[in-house]
Amino acid sequence: MKKILSTFSLVIIALCTIAAQPLKVGLFYGQEFQRATITLVKGSIDVYIDQKLSVQISAGESFELSYAGSQLRLIKGANASNGDNIISLVSSDQAQFKIQPAGLKANGRLYQGNISAVKAPGRLQLINVLHLESYIPGVIEAEGGANHELEYYKVQAIISRTYAVSNLRRHEADGYNVCDATHCQVYHGMSRHEPLTNKATRETEDVVIVDQNIDLITAAFHSNCGGHTNNAEDVWSKPLSYCVGRPDTFCLVMPHSNWEKSIPTSQWLAYLEKKRYPETDTALSSALAFFPSQKQVYFVDSTFKIPTKVIRSDFKLKSSYFTVHQMGENITFIGQGFGHGVGLCQEGAIRMAQLGYSHQDIIHYYYKDVHLIPLRFRWFFKEDVY
Ligand SMILES: [Zn+2]
Ligand SMILES: [Zn+2]
Repeated sequence: MKKILSTFSLVIIALCTIAAQPLKVGLFYGQEFQRATITLVKGSIDVYIDQKLSVQISAGESFELSYAGSQLRLIKGANASNGDNIISLVSSDQAQFKIQPAGLKANGRLYQGNISAVKAPGRLQLINVLHLESYIPGVIEAEGGANHELEYYKVQAIISRTYAVSNLRRHEADGYNVCDATHCQVYHGMSRHEPLTNKATRETEDVVIVDQNIDLITAAFHSNCGGHTNNAEDVWSKPLSYCVGRPDTFCLVMPHSNWEKSIPTSQWLAYLEKKRYPETDTALSSALAFFPSQKQVYFVDSTFKIPTKVIRSDFKLKSSYFTVHQMGENITFIGQGFGHGVGLCQEGAIRMAQLGYSHQDIIHYYYKDVHLIPLRFRWFFKEDVY
């Protein structure tokens, strides 16, 4: 018992250390700039150049950070200071500030927490260092859209938290944890237009989704499944026990449930020929009139198969859930849904929340056999800890 308790204590100490570590978010991912203007809206900021306190900035003041030659530079008014390795902005009094990189559109994004300005090959790299729970509302707003129910935002909070925690090493080589673009999760600073995102984050604090082995799940989601979600293995290379295709009628009344796209029949036939599609009359008539009764993984499921996900990608279709109709000199793809269809269907989740389902109901509807647990207790549930 004593050994168990001491092991348990060590685990708790280790977990507290992990939980206390702030998240590092690489800002303006994929965009190059050498200068950025920071405007402090609230609170104050201490600026450290190569670990030495240089200047204090007050609300209403602006300054510029740049990377030119081999030096980082801070310019405030007529004063300039150079650094070799890092300029750190350390916030006090719940500071909030705008960042405007030169030549980029930032639309007045507002940030909180600390900022590290470091050198990247040929450009300035800004890293927002903040508590995980402070990062989540901004992701909910950017990924989840505006004017939705609290329970839907709670779903997005839990998914975003699960993603961030399971991808802490994704940008290890870049010197931060996650980026702020679709490569990871979209984050444009603080949530500004949707107060419910903060409430949803608070009321689900620390909660993540784990599978039957208490491992964090890959919390895949998409805009609209079109009425049936996909198995992970039908879209990606490997199965995920919790991403299993299932019917979903909730999203059928939502904005992205239907789409159409027409192309010339000659283009379609040339494409099939290139794919070595059989040129028999039967095969060709099937290719011009494809009306499966349910979602298909393959196009014309007989002797010859083209994955519908490949057709989706080649013709930039909104989903791989479609029928093919010939109309005059064109063929028309008539489709349902938007996105890869794996995991949680956002518009289905939005509809479920409107109908009064809880965030737990919604998560269990789209992810099979999962559990919601506080991250800090995750190791407590894992038998192999002892
Ligand atoms: Zn990324
Ligand atoms: Zn759906």
